[in-house]
Amino acid sequence: MYKQQRYELVESLRLKGISDELLLQAMIKVEREKFVSAIMKPNAYKDIALPIGYGQTISQPFTIAIMTEALQIKKGDKVLEIGTGSGYQAALLYQMSAKVYSIERHIDVYNEVLKKFEKLGIRVHCKCGDGTLGWDQYSPFDKIIVTAGSPSVPESLKKQLAINGRMVIPVGNMSSQTLKVLTKTAPEEFEIEDIPQFAFVPLIGREGWKE
Ligand code: SAH
Repeated sequence: MYKQQRYELVESLRLKGISDELLLQAMIKVEREKFVSAIMKPNAYKDIALPIGYGQTISQPFTIAIMTEALQIKKGDKVLEIGTGSGYQAALLYQMSAKVYSIERHIDVYNEVLKKFEKLGIRVHCKCGDGTLGWDQYSPFDKIIVTAGSPSVPESLKKQLAINGRMVIPVGNMSSQTLKVLTKTAPEEFEIEDIPQFAFVPLIGREGWKE
């Protein structure tokens, strides 16, 4: 189902300048409609953000593509995702042959996504907790992707990034953020590139927005 819509979505992303073939091929394979509620399925291939319940959203495909492309994922990369949400982003990374670790703070969202991964045979290491603190046990990570907006870049995540690793994180206020793309050049040194004007749900935690 929806194969044609998937191709059309990927073509529209190409026209908007997305060129990472590993990502585009994954977007052709991963069935986005399986990550949204029944009522939202007809909208699954529109380039818009969709509600996934509990006040959370699955990001717009173009935003997901920009963030994932910025990570420069290579097969076998160890990737930490903060904010599992619907599981769509994690499923894309898994389809791109990354080893995916994903943290979700909301217990109901977490339980639902675990069931979904099980059913779809998507093997992602999941944990319920505060992702602003990272997942030290499995660090360093080649790539880190934060899918909720933060007031700043959490120090724990900076520490857990491998040298030459890349992190993408929306930073700003509650209503608008800039995507920061960090490359770790030395233990305490980062090159930072900005992609302006995005809007994500808030990252809530010890090193994010306070509850
Ligand atoms: N990557 C998701 C997008 C989910 S929206 C997808 O593909 O659908 C952002 C998610 O981040 C929400 O589910 C929210 O509950 C979660 N979140 C917010 N603060 C968090 C934190 N400190 N740690 C882990 N998850 C968090």
